[in-house]
Amino acid sequence: MTLGKTQTPTLPLICAPVTERGAADFLAALDDADRVADAVELRLDYLGAEDLPEVLDRLRARLGRLSKPLIFTFRPREQGGQRDLDICDRLSFWRELPPDLIRALAYADFELDLVESLAGAAPPVPWAKVICSWHDFGGTPDDLPARAERMAQLPAAVVKVATRARRLGDCLRVFEAIDRVSRAKPVIALGMELPGLPTRVLAPARGALLTFGALRPGAESAAGQPTVGELRELYRAGRLSRASEIYGVIGHPVGHSRSPAMHNAALAAAGRDAVYLPLEVDDVDEFVRDFVRPATRRLDWNLRGLSVTIPHKLAIMPHLDVVSAEAASVGAVNTVIVEGGKLRGENTDVAGAMRPLDEVIDARGARVAVLGAGGSARAVCAGLQERGAQVTVYGRDTRRTGPLAEQFGTGAAPLESFAGNAEIVINCTPIGMRGHSEGQSPLPPEALARAPLVYDLIYNPEETELLRQARAAGCRTLGGLSMLIAQAAEQFRLWTGEEPPVGVMAEAARRGLESLP
Ligand code: NAP
Repeated sequence: MTLGKTQTPTLPLICAPVTERGAADFLAALDDADRVADAVELRLDYLGAEDLPEVLDRLRARLGRLSKPLIFTFRPREQGGQRDLDICDRLSFWRELPPDLIRALAYADFELDLVESLAGAAPPVPWAKVICSWHDFGGTPDDLPARAERMAQLPAAVVKVATRARRLGDCLRVFEAIDRVSRAKPVIALGMELPGLPTRVLAPARGALLTFGALRPGAESAAGQPTVGELRELYRAGRLSRASEIYGVIGHPVGHSRSPAMHNAALAAAGRDAVYLPLEVDDVDEFVRDFVRPATRRLDWNLRGLSVTIPHKLAIMPHLDVVSAEAASVGAVNTVIVEGGKLRGENTDVAGAMRPLDEVIDARGARVAVLGAGGSARAVCAGLQERGAQVTVYGRDTRRTGPLAEQFGTGAAPLESFAGNAEIVINCTPIGMRGHSEGQSPLPPEALARAPLVYDLIYNPEETELLRQARAAGCRTLGGLSMLIAQAAEQFRLWTGEEPPVGVMAEAARRGLESLP
């Protein structure tokens, strides 16, 4: 499609900003953007005074070779740009732009103050080619939709508002701005930073003209901007519509979650018109009211299911209409299914933890040592109880191990007392996890010598110190990645009623892990 003068686009676009600083790099990135994106924004303010004329000259020479609509932007520093420019500098830049470039560009981005300064005067670029933009890097004001509507009264062809989404709730006002302005004019609206990600992915499906995608990590023109590849391949942003099914993971923080990689790959492989989003939620009550419960939510979207992660697995429970017996016994919900007007809670950590174990050993009657007494230990104990295993929970705090032992009918003992008298050892502590205590083990190597199977729920790194020692001691080992995949596969089954594409999910989880810090 093209971004014509008067045409209101009907297809969503992914626009790649070119943000390189030297002339040669800038032009090379422009060629890349022309190849991979649907539109290209030339962030000319990224160029120094000596590079800018060279880029404009060479751009004129290659106009015939570029195939995508071009947006020119020359942003002053205080509005998110890279150059110190007063309004006279900006006006001179636009007024001196060669006529062939003005003819060639699809849009010129004029900040609101520049548009207002031109009241009644002839614009340097025809109004039909002007985007009127306004940025707020501090937050998303309550009156954003009204402000965007006022901007729509100005002569520019397109309204753009980009504001910092401090919280997920800020996305509501961004979506409302799209709803209200798109009735009158093409609009671009997005929330910056991670809480705003849903706006970047869903804006085109909800009527916005385009969304921005960086050419590569590090080339973002604003915080929280995904790459073109992520928008296209991970989120399939260009194919979504208002009717698309929405899934997501709620947590705080959710930035490092592997769930979007696994679930989006699975939804795509299953051919579903669906997307799975990271949803940075700080207040579960507000989130359920405004985004989830069909009777009260303020966003008209086809939300079908949620993964729930730390710290919300308990807090979500009072909001649910039905909680499965398993989730109730574990005391935590990690999966929500939105069915009709009702919310159902499940816990797939039990099946997730047990499936890989069942594949390698029959735990019936086996002596099992569970290390740790937190959330994952509860899921493991619930699963082992169903299988009739003889479990002892080893923890550092009897106030945690005691109640768990009582509920699931297990033994309880101090962690340091474990001396190897178990057939299966399952680590449910974070000891050995990257960013926590990588390289450490919850047990001394000699305690492992008599355990035929050692299972570590930690998946990052894939081989923990505990597993390394267990292998050296001749034990069979099982890593946490298999649980991560199995619990996600179970979620997929609950949401869609379909058999999960486990191989695809496993590959996505592995690929994702490689890119983790
Ligand atoms: P949690 O609820 O915080 O529980 C952690 C448990 O470990 C608590 O009992 C805690 O003791 C104990 N612990 C923490 N640091 C310790 C230390 N230095 N020495 C002794 N005990 C210590 O966490 P969780 O949700 O159960 O998760 C635990 C681990 O499992 C995480 O590292 C996570 O990576 C992994 N996990 C993996 C999957 C998967 O899909 N593979 C799923 C869930 C969890 P206190 O009781 O005294 O606080």
